[in-house]
Amino acid sequence: MASVELAGVGKSYGSVNIIPHIDLKLDDGALTVFVGPSGCGKSTLLRMIAGLEKITNGDVLIDGRRVNDATPTDRGIAMVFQNYALYPHMTVRQNIGFPLKMAGLSRAEIDRRVEAAASSLQLSSLLDRKPAQLSGGQRQRVAIGRAIVREPRVFLFDEPLSNLDAELRVQMRLEIARLHKQLAATMIYVTHDQIEAMTLADKIVVLRAGQIEQVGRPTELYHDPDNIFVAGFIGSPKMNLLKARVSELFDGGVRLKLPDFGDTDIALPIVGARLAVGEQMWIGIRPEHFGEQGDVVLQTEVEVVENLGGTAYAYVRGTGGAMLTVGLADPQATAPGRAFEGRFPASRTFLFTEKGQRVR
Ligand code: ADP
Ligand code: MG
Repeated sequence: MASVELAGVGKSYGSVNIIPHIDLKLDDGALTVFVGPSGCGKSTLLRMIAGLEKITNGDVLIDGRRVNDATPTDRGIAMVFQNYALYPHMTVRQNIGFPLKMAGLSRAEIDRRVEAAASSLQLSSLLDRKPAQLSGGQRQRVAIGRAIVREPRVFLFDEPLSNLDAELRVQMRLEIARLHKQLAATMIYVTHDQIEAMTLADKIVVLRAGQIEQVGRPTELYHDPDNIFVAGFIGSPKMNLLKARVSELFDGGVRLKLPDFGDTDIALPIVGARLAVGEQMWIGIRPEHFGEQGDVVLQTEVEVVENLGGTAYAYVRGTGGAMLTVGLADPQATAPGRAFEGRFPASRTFLFTEKGQRVR
C-alpha cells in the first residue's frame, strides 16, 4: 500500500498543453476512479503516475518520495490495460509468472505467487491454457493476475473492462471490487463510464479537458455537484436542465420563472448568493426525482415512453419546446401524445449560473 500525490503535474506535447496543472492527494489503500469523457487526459495522467510518460512540470510522489525519474518497476506500480497484452504462445501460468521470471525469482516462489493469484481470480483450473483458449473476461483476469503477483504498492487500471460485453463487465466490476477489499491495495482506475465510477470508487476524480472538475465520494458528487458538468456526468439518465430567470429576491430566498414551461414559478431557499433580478440561470432536476409529490408542477406533453421493466421513463415536451426526461412510477398511466403533469419538489433541484457554476 502507498499514498500517491500529484503536485502541480502538467503535460504538454510540443506546444500543445493537454494537462495544465493538477494537484491531487490519493489516500493510501483507497480505490480512486478518474472519470471523464474520451480525450480528457485520463490515460496520460495514469501513464505519468506509472512512469510510462514523461512529466512536463510538477512532481509525482509515492509515499512522499518524488519518483519523477524512477522507472515503473522502481515505483512499485503495476498497470492493467484495456487490451490485455498477453503473450499468445505462453500458458496462463507462464503469462502470470512472466514479470517474476524477469525479476529472477525462484521457481518455487513464482509457483507460490502464481497459484495464489490464480486462486483469488478463479483461474486455477485454466493455468495450462493459452490465451486463445480463454474468453475475454478470463484474459482480462490473467492480465490482472500478472499485476497481482508483482505485489505492487499501487495498481493502475486503464479502462480494463471496455473490451468486454455488458454482462461480463458487470461481473468483472464485482471482481475488481472484491479484489480491492481482499488486497487492501491502493488502486487508481480510469474509465469513461460513470456507472463503473459510481459502483467501484471510494473517491471519484471528475476530469474535463485536462482539469479536475470535482473530487468526492460517489454520493457526494451525486447529491452535491459543483457545476453542470459534474451534475450531468454523474447519474443516469442525465439530470434535466431547465432555463430559469430570477424574478424576485426575498428575505428567505430567490424566486425564478421557467420560460420554457409557461413561466412556472419556483422558489428556492437560497440566500447570500449574489443574484440579480432578470439574471439567467439553470435549474437542475434529476429524472428520478419526479413523482406524485412535489410543489413544482410543469405542464407538458408526452413524446415517448420507455419501459425497461423495473423502471420507466417518459420524454416530455414543455410549451416552449424544451424536452425533459421523467421517471415514471406507473408507465401504464401515460402514453405518447397525452398531457403530462411533471411534478417535483423544489428541494430536490440544483441552481446553477448561466455559465454552469453551482449556486448553493
Ligand atoms: P483519455 O484517456 O482521457 O481518453 P488521453 O490521455 O489518451 O485521453 O489523451 C488526452 C489528450 O492528449 C487527447 O486530446 C489526445 O489527443 C492528446 N494526446 C495523447 N497522446 C498524444 C501524443 N503522443 N501527442 C499529441 N497529443 C496526444
Ligand atoms: Mg484513455
